[in-house]
Amino acid sequence: MYTIKGKTGDWELVIGLETHIEVLSNSKIFSGASANYNPTIAPNTQVSMVDAAMPGMLPVLNDYCVDQAIKFGLGINAEISRISRFARKQYFYPDLPQGYQISQPADRPPVVGRGWIEIIGDDGNPKKIFIERAHLEQDAGKLKHDAHPTKSFADYNRTGVTLLEIVTFLDTKNPENNSYISSPDEAEKYLRKIREIARALGVSRANMEEGSMRADVNVSVRPVGDKNFRTRTETKNMVSFKFIKTAIEYEARRQIETYENGGTVTQDTMRYNQGDGTTSVLRSKEDALDYRYFPDPDLLPLVITDERIERIRRTMPELPEATRARYINTYGLNEYDAARLTETVDISHWFDTAVGGKNERAKSVANWMISELFAHPENFDITNEVRERATDEPRIITPENIAELVDMISANEINGKQAKEIFIKMLDGETGSPKAIADKFGMKQITDTSAIEKVIDEIIANNPSQVEQYKSGKVGLLGFFVGNVMKATGGKANPAVVNEMIKKKLG
Ligand code: ADP
Ligand code: MG
Repeated sequence: MYTIKGKTGDWELVIGLETHIEVLSNSKIFSGASANYNPTIAPNTQVSMVDAAMPGMLPVLNDYCVDQAIKFGLGINAEISRISRFARKQYFYPDLPQGYQISQPADRPPVVGRGWIEIIGDDGNPKKIFIERAHLEQDAGKLKHDAHPTKSFADYNRTGVTLLEIVTFLDTKNPENNSYISSPDEAEKYLRKIREIARALGVSRANMEEGSMRADVNVSVRPVGDKNFRTRTETKNMVSFKFIKTAIEYEARRQIETYENGGTVTQDTMRYNQGDGTTSVLRSKEDALDYRYFPDPDLLPLVITDERIERIRRTMPELPEATRARYINTYGLNEYDAARLTETVDISHWFDTAVGGKNERAKSVANWMISELFAHPENFDITNEVRERATDEPRIITPENIAELVDMISANEINGKQAKEIFIKMLDGETGSPKAIADKFGMKQITDTSAIEKVIDEIIANNPSQVEQYKSGKVGLLGFFVGNVMKATGGKANPAVVNEMIKKKLG
């Protein structure tokens, strides 16, 4: 268990994360305006009357975003609510012209109910982290305060873009249930898992740098062995794994020090100060906002049928965790290879395409990808992104190319060294399939044993002292003979065959 040593003893950490991911969809959650905003798009060009909160405009729920939430819910093993509601969270701030944010209230089940994901806990064992809920809501716009000495600017392109907020569960009635995040490392692992699931399902880019994934971090501490949870603080709007870990640790130490000096921790909302890695109070509980939630009268309750859930379940791709298990169990890959090949869905898809259901190919394809292709990303069109390709851009090596190379080796048509040569020629822009390249450059493995035997005899005759040494026990010299035979055959002999033949001759 992760603990922090204080003056009075060891303390443990209790962490709750509220993670916002921006849902991928063409249009916003309640309007038809484009949801694909980015810094290059001119401000306030993707704002509908609904987003601008013109009087009398009515929100229309985007069904696709609901499908996305359901998909994510199924990905985290959650209950999908057959009925959920939208409420107005009221506050005035110029980033949201409505004067309220449409969200889903926490006191009734939102679209995604109780679920869980698994991480590797600090003790090295799998650990379930329970999730209380995930709800849909609107994002706010962006304010710019530093562009002019006396003016602030508002860009509403992001206003109304769909967010899914995922909240971890803390079993307050049962404080010994430890299915919550209890260290900075576990917080990072949890977030990475959320990101992996969101990306694999195409629900979100979940990219912290670009802000499509952000987290509010709740932290409390308690002496090891203490049964009850204590007051937590919430640090808002964190956008980097590193900052989140620093903030958790700083906040935990601050609380421990407070308790040990006889003070009490108050339920404050904190801000993180990037400069020095500290937290400070943004607002205290006394100024806690009363949002006066009430059901949005413009939106009907969201009813989800079993059929809809089943339809979505059927379209779900395999999640990376299951893919890794399949690579290990069916293909016999080791954990490292399985992890590398499931870093993104595009990579595992490339791998699966190259293997093409022929399990015997899997290990070699994995080796080619990990040792060669990952080193040459420019020749390895792993993403599905459509981009303009200049004519002088490198040749793309396809999954079919690697499958063919691997098959040629296992059929003894070429040896590993020749395969590598063909691969390098492809990197250098040689067109055509590996077979065509082998033909063009006369790369055929010599399998005719009488031809190989002639060469071996010659080399044995020319190196009597090495033969002597080998026979008197210096078996490491086998490599010397094999190397010479390979050299004499221009690298075309089958090294395994050469090995066997030399052993027999000298043995
Ligand atoms: P709010 O609605 O005020 O943000 P929630 O009850 O929704 O509060 O909780 C927000 C997050 O804080 C959840 O992830 C929850 O598990 C976590 N949390 C609640 N109590 C504690 C505590 N004592 N220590 C650490 N985290 C907590
Ligand atoms: Mg909160």
